[in-house]
Amino acid sequence: MTKWRCDKCGYTMEKDAHPNECPSCNEKCTFTNVTCYTPECGGEKNIDPKLYDKKE
Ligand SMILES: [Zn+2]
Repeated sequence: MTKWRCDKCGYTMEKDAHPNECPSCNEKCTFTNVTCYTPECGGEKNIDPKLYDKKE
C-alpha cells in the first residue's frame, strides 16, 4: 500500500492509487507519495517524515 498526502490540506491516506478528489477537501488536489522506502523511517508501513515535511 502506498501512503498519499494531500498537498492542500495535509490529509493522509493509504491506498494503492490516490483518488482524484481529496476526501477531506472534496476538491481535486495534488497528492504526494509519502511512503517510507528506506530503513531509516521503518519501511513501507510508515510515512517518511522527510517527504511529509517537505514544503513547496
Ligand atoms: Zn485535501
